[in-house]
Amino acid sequence: MDKCSFCGRSRKDTNLLIAGVSGHICDGCIEQAHAILEEEFRKKGSFDMDKISLLKPAEIKAFLDQYVIGQDEAKKYLSVAVYNHYKRLMQPTSSDDVEIEKSNIILVGETGTGKTLLARTIARMLHVPFTIVDATVLTEAGYVGEDIESILTRLLQAADYNVEAAEKGIVFIDEIDKIARKSDNPSITRDVSGEGVQQGLLKLLEGSIVNVPPQGGRKHPEQKMIPVNTKNILFICGGAFDGIERKIGQRLNTKVVGYTASRAKDHIDAGNLLQYIAPQDLKSFGLIPEIIGRLPILTYLNPLDRDTLRRILTEPKNSIIKQYVKLFEMDKIDLHFSEDALDYIVDKAVEFKLGARGLRSICETIMMDHMFESPGKKSGKLEITLGFAREKIERANIALLKAG
Ligand code: ADP
Repeated sequence: MDKCSFCGRSRKDTNLLIAGVSGHICDGCIEQAHAILEEEFRKKGSFDMDKISLLKPAEIKAFLDQYVIGQDEAKKYLSVAVYNHYKRLMQPTSSDDVEIEKSNIILVGETGTGKTLLARTIARMLHVPFTIVDATVLTEAGYVGEDIESILTRLLQAADYNVEAAEKGIVFIDEIDKIARKSDNPSITRDVSGEGVQQGLLKLLEGSIVNVPPQGGRKHPEQKMIPVNTKNILFICGGAFDGIERKIGQRLNTKVVGYTASRAKDHIDAGNLLQYIAPQDLKSFGLIPEIIGRLPILTYLNPLDRDTLRRILTEPKNSIIKQYVKLFEMDKIDLHFSEDALDYIVDKAVEFKLGARGLRSICETIMMDHMFESPGKKSGKLEITLGFAREKIERANIALLKAG
């Protein structure tokens, strides 16, 4: 009689018995084997550094291109920085006395231009632990808010508490501009969410062993700490630095006085001063020089113009429109957007000054009724026309006006 070659149960005692070349396996043993496999993979960690094949900078950029539209300058800087960072990690420890220094990155650009998306896409490509933290919640130890160490708690959590993996992870610190010094005059009054935090952050950026509370929150004496070495953690900072254009403008202006003034000025694109950003502008904005020194790679993101928004809608690998098409495909509906409907969505995002984030909310408004009604009802073709999109948006606007 057939029986499971693993546990010996006969066919009638199993739900399913699968025959192999020279034996059988029952459903119970399959499940158990699966659980063992999962446990093994988990233990090994999905973050296995040996698995990282070192992509060349151009390949890293090509990967980013699939998800992020435009921002070529930032992509180039990031690709080189990440490439060098991981080359450094793979360097045999005592090869010679040339030690490659870590190069943390700072991205400056308006909100919603793709800073987080870039960092997230890089992390996805590298399969390393990745976390996003908001600098605004950080305060100096002892004050209301989160300790600086909580950054590493998040990274540990993202790494399933695999310390070794976390120590090679990437941290994206958002809104770094919010911890700028409040005034140029250092420390007349205590500045617990400004310079104090910058000093604390410095310790992490520099690379040191930090005791991290595993559950986050405030440190308290009875909590067991996990020591984490930040030497190989790549920090990517991002911020909008509102008003920094003025500082850049001032610097450029003072530089170009003199007989070359008129010529040099001709070359300055006053519409997008961010492209000229330099470390001294961050200093004028209120970052302390030590922090700036620890963020040697400084680059910028362009504001999103109409063309870029239009491309963001359809081109990225997981673009908003592709996501809707996929969603409807699952209900056997062949969804299609007309070109002028897509243009209209972009026009509205521009009009409402919503940037790329607005594209999604506009699409949601247009698609909501269809998403509610279509499943299970119709199948076949569904075309979103300009007329339909306009009607939905105008109705939503009127509803809003009435609500207001
Ligand atoms: P930031 O961090 O600069 O404030 P995000 O990266 O969070 O902005 O961008 C917000 C959203 O807008 C992203 O999730 C993405 O969908 C979209 N987006 C912004 N910029 C781009 C871009 N350059 N390419 C593709 N999508 C973008």
